[in-house]
Amino acid sequence: MRCWHAFSPFFGKPEKQVFWREKYGLDVYVEDVGEAFAAMLRQGPAHGFGKVLNPCVDCKIHLLRRAAMYMKSVGARALATGEVIGQRPMSQRRDVMRVIMREAGVTDILVRPLCAQLLESTLPEREGIIDRSRLAAIAGRGRGGQISLAARLGVTEFPTPGGGCRLTERENARRYWPILTRLAAPAAADFALANLGRQFWGQEGDECYWLCVGRNQADNERLALAARPDDALLNLWDMPGPMALARGGEHWPEGVMRRAAALTAACSPKALAAAPRTRAYVEIRCGEYQAKVIAEKPERVAFFENPPPFDMVRAERKVRFSQEYL
Ligand code: SF4
Repeated sequence: MRCWHAFSPFFGKPEKQVFWREKYGLDVYVEDVGEAFAAMLRQGPAHGFGKVLNPCVDCKIHLLRRAAMYMKSVGARALATGEVIGQRPMSQRRDVMRVIMREAGVTDILVRPLCAQLLESTLPEREGIIDRSRLAAIAGRGRGGQISLAARLGVTEFPTPGGGCRLTERENARRYWPILTRLAAPAAADFALANLGRQFWGQEGDECYWLCVGRNQADNERLALAARPDDALLNLWDMPGPMALARGGEHWPEGVMRRAAALTAACSPKALAAAPRTRAYVEIRCGEYQAKVIAEKPERVAFFENPPPFDMVRAERKVRFSQEYL
């Protein structure tokens, strides 16, 4: 048996690969599906979104297609997933599960062992590769059946019921929405950057300015790693404070960069405390070479705003992506 695990800026834990092998002896192949997922979000999912920004039906179709490709590449003859009929309103309804199988091209080879007794038999069961009598008949939203089965099998660590998909969380939808609506061609790396720190957006005419400010040392390190050659990194020069990343900052007008520096300084308690007496010195570095220090009054300038509230995201989403749910 082989396992296949997909990850993207929105879901997945590829770093658990070693843990799964050592704890459960599982041979897990991990695959980055981030770019394909970003493309799907850009186009708008054919089957619409769930309650937040989760395109669950299209997501499952896409992942099962990729899993089937992996299945063939290793000479396997069946796929199994952990779905439970009725557990989710959008993608685990009986009719929707059929649509997903059909559109992913995995009808009759996809086994859902947790609820297989409640579904039609599949080819691997009819051929005797899988013993149908050992499969379960779990249904509905409760998790009790799965938890007691896990206990019987000695599985002590499993994902939380929510599954950890960021697209189901309103706060994250607020972060992703400006990426989808303000960048010309958002890529997986843009969504990954939206996961970091505090997010701020400014606009002047048709130009949008995206500033990410670290909340802690770990954020600062990730921001430094995420920087592209034309991004600007902002650091306080002579006192502790956050790092900020200005996407495409090399091309920002001086006035906008000064406002970014003032906001970055305002995220430093020390700079704020010293503000009545002194300006903050902020170093701005693009790539390896350009670095300059400007002095600004630390302040939360109105120019840079937080991402829109979720109600606004939901309203705009309905206008932009009009697909109905299945
Ligand atoms: S919750 Fe996220 S990972 Fe799960 S099916 Fe929906 S979009 Fe895909």
